Amino acid sequence: MRHRKGIDLARPADYAVDPGHETLGSLPEMFVLVAACPACRKRAPIDRWELGRQMGKSSTLVSVAKRLKCSGCGNHAGNRLLLGRLPRD
Ligand SMILES: [Zn+2]
Repeated sequence: MRHRKGIDLARPADYAVDPGHETLGSLPEMFVLVAACPACRKRAPIDRWELGRQMGKSSTLVSVAKRLKCSGCGNHAGNRLLLGRLPRD
């Protein structure tokens, strides 16, 4: 899977990130969040800092995923969060 900017996307488990414990505040800054809709397969990047202001930095990735609503088809069941790791330069 490749982001259009060339960032590889993977499940949190692939990065050894536990989405039930990791929060918007604790997730290392190198990670970007992308929402993935199982219904229409749309993927959309999420502004984790803006989300942190709205939901609180102590929100876990699991709770964030539960609140996602697809901007493409409106589906709000089973949406997943994927993580991308920003390249270091
Ligand atoms: Zn959708």
